[in-house]
Amino acid sequence: MEKELLSGIVPITFEGVEIARPMVIAGPCSAESERQVLDTARALAQAGVKIFRAGVWKPRTRPGGFEGVGQCALQWLNTVKEKTGMLVATEVATREHVMAALDAGIDILWIGARTSANPFAIQEIADALEGRDDATVFVKNPVNPDLELWMGALQRIYNAGVRRLGAIHRGFSAYGEHVYRNVPQWHIPLELHRRVPSLPILCDPSHMGGRRELVASISQQALDMGFDGLIVEAHCDPDHALSDKEQQVTPEALNSILQALVVRDTHYSTESLDLLREQVDRCDNELLEVLAKRMTVCRDIGRYKKEHSMQVVQNTRYDDVLSSRVSQAAAMGLGEEFVRSVMVAIHEESVKQQIEILNRPEEGQQ
Ligand code: PEP
Ligand code: MN
Repeated sequence: MEKELLSGIVPITFEGVEIARPMVIAGPCSAESERQVLDTARALAQAGVKIFRAGVWKPRTRPGGFEGVGQCALQWLNTVKEKTGMLVATEVATREHVMAALDAGIDILWIGARTSANPFAIQEIADALEGRDDATVFVKNPVNPDLELWMGALQRIYNAGVRRLGAIHRGFSAYGEHVYRNVPQWHIPLELHRRVPSLPILCDPSHMGGRRELVASISQQALDMGFDGLIVEAHCDPDHALSDKEQQVTPEALNSILQALVVRDTHYSTESLDLLREQVDRCDNELLEVLAKRMTVCRDIGRYKKEHSMQVVQNTRYDDVLSSRVSQAAAMGLGEEFVRSVMVAIHEESVKQQIEILNRPEEGQQ
């Protein structure tokens, strides 16, 4: 069993504040004015939200957009704490942000997607966190779908001594128009969870979907996949928000979304689930046996081709195999793209095995 990475992570709890599962962090994309911050926070507190988010320094893709009001908004967040009892969270991207936010008593820091893609920036933040062991930090996935880069960012923050650590999945940018603003690629956070089971992972349906109509369904999907919570953008007047207005919901809408969410039992196993899992195990065994048998046949083909001085890849044969398998699979209700990628992987391995046979010295020769 490989040693668990980031093995010292501790659960994120706060004295005096009960945070139910799923953890919900909500608030505007940006803090725009004291009034907007407080109105939104009060309405969210009424909806039962315990952690308030607001961007103070905003990383904008293009210059000229609203870049946040800066440090003065930290005071507004403090007023939120005072007036509502909520915990507060903001994004940090530089050493100065970290210092200012921690000194102002901000409870949770998060690192944005553009920052987590940059190891220099992450290291600067990590250095600023050194010795601030009680800090709570969430690291968003980098903009590009690179799990190693995400892991690297988490590791740098962990190495600085932060143990109250979490991740946020907000999807990955892609060129062109998509249903989602940032493509989910759910397998990436699921692999992160497999590697670091103790790391809490939240989903950000707002930046993932990019449209308020998608917030409810993405949130439900995330919970169904076992995510630990959500970070959602909510604004008291979303249509007039200074950033990300299409994806922000009102606190009232968020309340309805949260009420409607189905939080499934976290029990990992029941008797009937065990039976189904046994069936899956049997299928996997059969799959592996068939694969092993296929490779044996391929090696026999390799020997035959060697004896008859034939080349390994015969293009027409490959095209025929691929298209016949894909249409056969479609008739069985299997996805075309899925079967194509499986067949391509199997074919690549078969070719590799045959080339090995071809290059092997003849028996008796060295
Ligand atoms: C944000 O949460 O306000 C933000 C800028 O998100 P991201 O880093 O995911 O784009
Ligand atoms: Mn935003």
